Amino acid sequence: MANTSAGNPVTPLSATPRRCPICGKPAMARHQPFCSARCADIDLGRWLKGNYSIPTDEAPEDAPEDDER
Ligand SMILES: [Zn+2]
Repeated sequence: MANTSAGNPVTPLSATPRRCPICGKPAMARHQPFCSARCADIDLGRWLKGNYSIPTDEAPEDAPEDDER
């Protein structure tokens, strides 16, 4: 038998409120894990930007060569 003295390995949850990863304010239950819809939107924007690769090589539309003489 283990001889542990009053061991409570389970850390109590909801002791400290989650903090908004964007601004660091306490997160609201409604907008978890963010403090507001605005911060959630910011995070979403970052996420999308990270996924979508911005095309840098734009193919310029060349005007058709017109043989006018
Ligand atoms: Zn925030």
